[in-house]
Amino acid sequence: LSAGNGIDGTAMVIDRHGGPEELHAAKIKAPAPGPGQVRIKQTAIGVNYIDVYCRTGYFKLLEPPQAPGMEAAGEVIDIGPGVSHLREGQRVAYACPPVGAYTSHRTMGAALVIPLPDWIDDETAAAGLLKGMTAQFLLHQVHAVRPKQTVLIYAPAGGVGRMLCQWANRMGATVIGATSSEAKARIARAAGAHHVVTPGEKSLEEQVMDLTKGHGADVIYDAVGKDSFAHSIAALATPGHLVSFGQASGDIGSWNVSSLASKSVTLSRPNYGHYTDTPEKIAAISADLFDAIRSGTVKVEIGQKYKLSDAAEAHRALEARETTGSTILIPDQ
Ligand code: NDP
Repeated sequence: LSAGNGIDGTAMVIDRHGGPEELHAAKIKAPAPGPGQVRIKQTAIGVNYIDVYCRTGYFKLLEPPQAPGMEAAGEVIDIGPGVSHLREGQRVAYACPPVGAYTSHRTMGAALVIPLPDWIDDETAAAGLLKGMTAQFLLHQVHAVRPKQTVLIYAPAGGVGRMLCQWANRMGATVIGATSSEAKARIARAAGAHHVVTPGEKSLEEQVMDLTKGHGADVIYDAVGKDSFAHSIAALATPGHLVSFGQASGDIGSWNVSSLASKSVTLSRPNYGHYTDTPEKIAAISADLFDAIRSGTVKVEIGQKYKLSDAAEAHRALEARETTGSTILIPDQ
């Protein structure tokens, strides 16, 4: 938490790693920006599953007492020496470490903060930037999806998953979603999934093999982890590419690499930070995302909106699989 002369604000912080109940309100002061920094009055904050990993301590990105959060939008209040790409009064957004976004005002390094185009509102930016940039590098960089490839996407009604469905469909892929309920399956179909598999008498891999006439999925985007990893390998084509990019159900644990030979599996484990850690990468990837949003390829869906002070409830709902689309927090103005 920042100290010293500054602007009074409110944050949701944790004093120790643990459950959603650890999130509590705290008064903060956002100090005047130093060299290379900017001070932002935040209007909308994005909630991401990464915030859950940070809150529990699974990811070592948050050292209590501290606020979680990697993504927000708002207005620049003032800028420090050496910042030339931003100006006071400008609408901006960011989706990058360090954590600390669950706050009404924030002073932070300006390098990865980007100006927002006029046509995108703050809430859409906070809901879509991190998830959309993730979808961009997964579909265009980690695996360059080609027309007619079969793509299996888990959690297709969620934040990242829904955008993956929309974008992969527009890229000409055959999209299969894998979700937990018929209600979410309907959302996935509306987002562009040609087929959706849900838990039933047949296993996920049997359903995928039936749908693909025994071919399997050419690429699988799997952010469920522990519960899905083995099923994903079984549902792959030969050769196939398994992109394991998250673990909402728990850590995958160890895996025998030799077993991947059964299908000549390519395995990727991409990290958001490595695709978005320079101003040049952020500029390129966000420009691509903004084009996709503006053209209608990707529609950012805000499924849940909470007050910042209700961040614990937002986390509880996300972990309970009750959310669809993106979740944002709104600070008191
Ligand atoms: P989501 O909106 O996708 O929410 C998580 C979803 O995961 C749930 O709605 C649920 O969908 C599914 N799920 C399956 N099993 C479980 C479980 N046991 N507990 C909770 N959820 C489960 O979240 P986000 O869009 O914020 O993030 C999606 C994933 O992408 C996360 O795993 C995150 O870590 C990952 N990610 C990875 C990045 C990277 O760089 N590697 C960057 C950004 C995100 P359903 O009911 O349909 O199964």
